[in-house]
Amino acid sequence: MGKVLIIGAGGVGAVVAFKCAQQSEIFTEIMLASRTLSKCDKIAQSIGNQRIKTAQLDADNVAETVALIERFEPDIVINVALPYQDLNIMEACLQTKTSYLDTANYEPKEVAKFEYKWQWAYNQRFKDAGILAILGCGFDPGVTGVFTSYAQKHYFEQMNYLDIVDCNAGDHGKAFATNFNPEINIREITQKGKYWKDGQWIETQPLEIHKPIQYPNIGAKESYLLFHEELESLVKNFPTLKQARFWMTFGEKYINVLNVLQEVGMTSIKPILYEGREIVPLQFLKAVLPEPASLGAGYKGQTSIGCQIKGLAKESGKELTYYVWNNCDHAQVFKECGAQAVSYTTGVPAMIGAMMYLKNQWTGVGVKNVEEFDPDPFMEQLNCCGLPWHEQIGLPLPVESN
Ligand code: NDP
Repeated sequence: MGKVLIIGAGGVGAVVAFKCAQQSEIFTEIMLASRTLSKCDKIAQSIGNQRIKTAQLDADNVAETVALIERFEPDIVINVALPYQDLNIMEACLQTKTSYLDTANYEPKEVAKFEYKWQWAYNQRFKDAGILAILGCGFDPGVTGVFTSYAQKHYFEQMNYLDIVDCNAGDHGKAFATNFNPEINIREITQKGKYWKDGQWIETQPLEIHKPIQYPNIGAKESYLLFHEELESLVKNFPTLKQARFWMTFGEKYINVLNVLQEVGMTSIKPILYEGREIVPLQFLKAVLPEPASLGAGYKGQTSIGCQIKGLAKESGKELTYYVWNNCDHAQVFKECGAQAVSYTTGVPAMIGAMMYLKNQWTGVGVKNVEEFDPDPFMEQLNCCGLPWHEQIGLPLPVESN
């Protein structure tokens, strides 16, 4: 059906390559390109699929990316490198008229601030080029947007309250590690929190608001209110929302270590001089922390991510509560493909998004977020491709019970 170029050979890239290789009728040719060629080769070897080609690529370099796209001629590029590369890869896609998909919105290296404005600004140019950019197609952002549009399509006349709840109740046995790229993860958590209420953003101190929330098959876990990028597109695309919040669980030990690292300046993104050379403390910290792709072996427990929504029901107009979620088991994921559940819950939806594009189930031109497409074929594939979901209708929402 089509050719896919995957950029980024980290924890998520490995899962995307594995899952695309499984769908051989859809992804007829696969190329995995990243900054370090040996990582691409290692992934291709472990999948053992002759169809996976590999290439060395610095995706910060537009000309280099254009040359690779021209050589391989993919139908779609899946960007699972870092958010810093988003605009340069989009630029290369424009120059070669190739469609694009990613899992995290752009943020400049020098400021820890993620926003869609930079990528949404490409809308007209993508339309003019007749190509599509699918933004934020991991789990959160990604499946959480699809869950929300599924709820709107099938159950709600008007959605009023949205709470996205993200729990990782897994234990990797390491003293301190992040489940996706440490630099991006720590930048996200140490920022101020933010949520949508009555038409405006309410800012909080980092990790200021928290409470225990019950998660299916897991139990109660302390959950912290963060700003997360899908809130920005969801309140725009579902303007009836009066409130939209995002919660993520962290263990006490994780928070303590993070506080210490912050207090001693190790999470700073301001360069310092060390032995006559400029280094960025957070980048140095990333270098000493375990790589997300290395966490799979021995990781136990589950993740649980979902959307809890309250509003007015279709037809009756009566108040309705709705909770839709997926639980994913770290050990089961490791058995299937050698990864951990956070990489898996991101990589599987990225593959499905590209599949939707190649099967003409997600169509159009311009720059779009996942909730702007038909959720049904995507929801169907989640069930087939390893991320089954569950729903609860008309019961009290766990996020409201404390
Ligand atoms: P990793 O750090 O494991 O992998 C990142 C990969 O990108 C590495 O292989 C790295 O190369 C490569 N890379 C970095 N810079 C460049 C460059 N200039 N050119 C080419 N390749 C480059 O991170 P993850 O796999 O955990 O995360 C990947 C992406 O997924 C991130 O953007 C993250 O924010 C996003 N994500 C999204 C989630 C969602 O649910 N939406 C959840 C989790 C992650 P090298 O190995 O040489 O450093």
